[in-house]
Amino acid sequence: MRANELLAVSGGRGFGSFSGLSERIESPHVVLVGGPGAGKGTVSRYLCGRYALRHLSTGDLLRREIDLATQLGRYVAPFLARGELVADHIIFDQVQAQLETLPEHTGFIFDGVPRTWEQAVWLDRELSARCSTIALAVRIEVPHDELITRAAERRVCSSAECQRSYGARSTAPRIAGICDDCRGVLVQRADDHPDVVRRRLRDSAVIEHVIAEYYERTGRLVTINAAGLSMHELKLAVARLLPSRMLASVA
Ligand code: AMP
Repeated sequence: MRANELLAVSGGRGFGSFSGLSERIESPHVVLVGGPGAGKGTVSRYLCGRYALRHLSTGDLLRREIDLATQLGRYVAPFLARGELVADHIIFDQVQAQLETLPEHTGFIFDGVPRTWEQAVWLDRELSARCSTIALAVRIEVPHDELITRAAERRVCSSAECQRSYGARSTAPRIAGICDDCRGVLVQRADDHPDVVRRRLRDSAVIEHVIAEYYERTGRLVTINAAGLSMHELKLAVARLLPSRMLASVA
């Protein structure tokens, strides 16, 4: 289903009456699907700043382990540097730890997970045991040429706690090379170098296909064609799709 079709059927009010969502469900969640640089992190941060939601990026969690030089961080670092997926069980542990430390009613924006069919099945099972569910998966489609340019321009905050990402245009920092939020130094991600990006894009096309099919089969997929959309327009387009129960504003 395309975003405009969804808005037409839902009257533009999002997924308030999503048919797969039983009354038992306490907290719906959203999965963002898209290639590296598609805007998943930026959209997530916007939504979490505006609504009482939590951004769960498995990439950020793994990079934090690397920055802290934990045993896990040392193990996964080469995988991230090469742009290869880490084993599912590592992802399960990371996600489970996040789910356990936060109140049950927390609504999550899942960014970068699931990336395999097994992760998608596992996530549904884990959430259902907590009386919650992925209500919606939003696929953000951006042409590959644009993603290669964005990856070359992208800079991220080097603070392990922050990791905010910036582009060269509408999402540029106010002071070049410095994070707006925490004044951390901005650096290029090792896996944003062009040869690694090309590999990640090739792999991510396959991953996106698998994950989109998983959510399509259960009627939870919406695709946004983001070619030509500014980051601001993309944020608003995703926000309009959120289930109404996720829209409690931040106090
Ligand atoms: P991201 O920040 O989402 O682009 O993720 C950066 C890197 O972390 C990926 O290229 C993988 O090496 C690893 N990674 C993140 N999430 C996952 C996942 N769900 N499954 C396997 N590997 C992952």
